[in-house]
Amino acid sequence: MKTNTKFIFVTGGVISGVGKGIMAASIGAILKAKGLKVSMQKCDPYLNVDAGLLNPREHGECFVTQDGAETDLDLGHYERFLDEEMTGNSIWTSGKLYKRLIDAERAGEFGGNTVQLIPHVTGMIQKTFIENAEHFKSDVHIVEIGGTVGDMEGQHFIEAIREFGTKVGRSNCLYVHVCYVPWLSTSEEFKTKPAQNSLRDLREFGIIPDMVVARMDVDRIVKAPQVARKLATFCGVNENAVVLMPDAKSVYEVPLNAVKGGVLAPLEEFIDHGDPDMTHWEKLVKQIESNPKKVVKIGLVAKYIDNTDTYLSVTEALKAAAWNNDVKLETVWVNAEEATIRDFEQVDGIVVPGGFGSRGVEGKIAAAEYCLRNNKPYLGLCLGLQTAVIAAARIGGIEGANSEEFDAPEGKNVVYIMEGQKGKESTGGTMRLGDYPAKLVKGSKIAGLYGSEDVIERHRHRYEVNQKFLKEINAGGLVVAGTSPDGSLVEFVEAPNCDYFVATQAHPEFRSRPYRAHPLFDGLIKAAANRQ
Ligand code: GLN
Repeated sequence: MKTNTKFIFVTGGVISGVGKGIMAASIGAILKAKGLKVSMQKCDPYLNVDAGLLNPREHGECFVTQDGAETDLDLGHYERFLDEEMTGNSIWTSGKLYKRLIDAERAGEFGGNTVQLIPHVTGMIQKTFIENAEHFKSDVHIVEIGGTVGDMEGQHFIEAIREFGTKVGRSNCLYVHVCYVPWLSTSEEFKTKPAQNSLRDLREFGIIPDMVVARMDVDRIVKAPQVARKLATFCGVNENAVVLMPDAKSVYEVPLNAVKGGVLAPLEEFIDHGDPDMTHWEKLVKQIESNPKKVVKIGLVAKYIDNTDTYLSVTEALKAAAWNNDVKLETVWVNAEEATIRDFEQVDGIVVPGGFGSRGVEGKIAAAEYCLRNNKPYLGLCLGLQTAVIAAARIGGIEGANSEEFDAPEGKNVVYIMEGQKGKESTGGTMRLGDYPAKLVKGSKIAGLYGSEDVIERHRHRYEVNQKFLKEINAGGLVVAGTSPDGSLVEFVEAPNCDYFVATQAHPEFRSRPYRAHPLFDGLIKAAANRQ
């Protein structure tokens, strides 16, 4: 197999949730800061074809790529850390892989051969690495393997990355194992045995890692040479290839902590490309730690308040805007099902994020109505635009106006389902997904915020504003501020009589970056701060 790209494979051990994805993305950020072209990919063992039909309460946010794939929230981390846009090919679940394999088998592509886990599934996994490297023309392609080593359901991925090392040459692959080193308070020592065991599991697959990242049970960077030595001796890695990582207060500290923890030595042995310029990470962390005096309270009127990962890109976009304005963000989670006027009164601004289904929707409509009537800053995202339109239509005289998603009464469907979308509600990958352009109204507040009349945002929705009711919606205080280029779909609305009442049918949160706040979130934080 010939390729000009080098590959980094990141596996995990001991327990899940130690930040393997953030570590993988941080390695990517460091290599990018060295001036290298970096791409990333996740391999996830689960059998769903994508994350589109997964329950967000269990699985967290469904992240949407520019080409319309409904993916795991890890891809959001990759985009925020690398500042590169992923594609549908940047994630391969076992389900998607098997689907591709079985479709190929049905199409007769295996020429009569018996189709097997090895070499066919592993070969197809390896094909995705090469496809990504070629598509992104990357110097380095990083592949994160979901789950932990030893999980039965992830074995085909581990075998695939081992084989790949022999195919493209061992020197073109760097194996990184992220594991966990707990602190035992009774005997006051770090325990490396679980990490040793997970490294042994990896060795059983024939992989001796080139770098071991030990997530330590501490809140600051510690010198623990005995931990590094032990892991090195027992696991056959170089001592200077053991990177000790403490808990971080913010995920954006991780690239800098990784440098301090010694990640550069093994990386530079693998690919030599000068020092990384970490200035923007240092600036960002300094801002995060600055603890500004001014506090801005933003109410997030949402349904899954018991798993706030469901709104991960939204909360990250809010944080980025707060950092950009040097204010301290206080996120107030408002349970949409129980929301009252008091919840809306106590915050400086409100976000209604995306959502599906009728549960809690009246609380979201009430939030929009409150903001419209009381000139409170409001940012509506996707469903948050639809709730704003419903609120305005009700104020504008259509009593009981609603969306067809929530059983609108006859002749009051101010948000409706378009012909081509009917009957697909429980089917995967059938919404209006990914990047779509919009034309903003000249002189509108939103065009001013973007500084342009032509914008592109990511989408994930099925329902649309019913323009038949524009007169009533206008009477309720909302105007259309942007549409699809042909004018057929409403993409943005705003309230001319409010200081900041802005909503979009898209998901701008996916395009926000930690050090480049998105204009709509930036505008919300500015308006909320100015009210005080
Ligand atoms: N449920 C709405 C729709 O399908 C909104 C979707 C969303 O908020 N992502 O149009």
